[in-house]
Amino acid sequence: MSALHTDTADLKNLIDRLETGRFLTREEWTRLIRGRTPDLEEYLFEKARAIRIRHYGHGVFIRGLIEFTNYCANDCYYCGIRRSNPHAERYRLTKEQILACCGHGYELGFRTFVLQGGEDGWFTDERMTDIVSSIRTGWPDCAITLSIGERSYKSYQRLYEAGANRYLLRHETYDAVHYAKLHPPSLSSSSRQQCLWNLKEIGYQVGTGFMVGSPYQTPENLADDMMFLKELNPQMVGIGPFIPHHDTPFADKEAGTAELTIFMLGLIRLLLPKVLLPATTALGTISPDGREKGILAGANVVMPNLSPPQVREKYLLYDNKLCTGDEAAESLRDLEARMRKIGYHIEVSRGDSLNVSLAQTESKNRNEIH
Ligand code: SAH
Repeated sequence: MSALHTDTADLKNLIDRLETGRFLTREEWTRLIRGRTPDLEEYLFEKARAIRIRHYGHGVFIRGLIEFTNYCANDCYYCGIRRSNPHAERYRLTKEQILACCGHGYELGFRTFVLQGGEDGWFTDERMTDIVSSIRTGWPDCAITLSIGERSYKSYQRLYEAGANRYLLRHETYDAVHYAKLHPPSLSSSSRQQCLWNLKEIGYQVGTGFMVGSPYQTPENLADDMMFLKELNPQMVGIGPFIPHHDTPFADKEAGTAELTIFMLGLIRLLLPKVLLPATTALGTISPDGREKGILAGANVVMPNLSPPQVREKYLLYDNKLCTGDEAAESLRDLEARMRKIGYHIEVSRGDSLNVSLAQTESKNRNEIH
């Protein structure tokens, strides 16, 4: 047998072991990520799809993303809305605007609202809990997800008590040295991770994740990320390729690839079989059929944009970020058509478990009208 064949057999064996035992050592993760080939990817995706279908059928959950502020106190080197970007045109939605987004989203069929923003001091605990409790009262059957960065234990607790159910906070990269290459000294991987443990302890359904192909990232870093996922055992994992933004220190860095992102999605599906795994906007931005490829590699969530159209272009985390077309919440029919084309369909539910599909809801609505 040639060396290549031996390698492939060895790596397929690692994938088999990941599937059955849900564990690999750091060295094995690294070997698998570094040694991947198109043949191996197909082998992985087939398994990832089977696991995803076993737990979630062919359903794709939708979450309505409301990007409610692009003010940010932080200065992450990769991010377009970092504090030091004087060209970012800043905006902040009012409570009324946020509630209007929820109302609009509910009509469209969304049952999860994700409030995401920069770390904006204007949104104190008082203001944030007021917004969250108004959404909780107005749409009691919906899940409320927050993605507003690092806050104190007490603050997370107050928001939870006000009615938030889920929290998305990517760990970005596990390794402290790599983390320090992507962030200013005021931020650290340990505080980031502590926030995740706090959120979990409070009772949130937690989502974490990382950028794929961020500057200076090595396969060893990705191996650490996978080991951290195993340890944290989150309900959701969001990953997407790093994409440079022209007004950041990383303007000239190379973007991550759809290929590696999709490979990582497949690995995550094997590691955490029931995890909620979005095919992210960044993946759709880097490759026109990125979301479809993500779904076919084991992803089961998409998060269309529900922000008011006039601010969508201002929440520019990276260049060319999609916010129109099938990325827009209004284009759910088009998204549904794209999913149908690959044999999947959109689920209208909170997405905690399997529920009715969009087509079923529509026929139910029609029946109610007649
Ligand atoms: N302030 C919130 C939300 C951050 S934006 C927080 O701290 O969690 C959401 C995610 O976008 C980030 O976690 C990061 O992983 C991703 N992101 C930011 N800039 C990016 C870039 N240039 N390319 C790809 N993803 C990026």
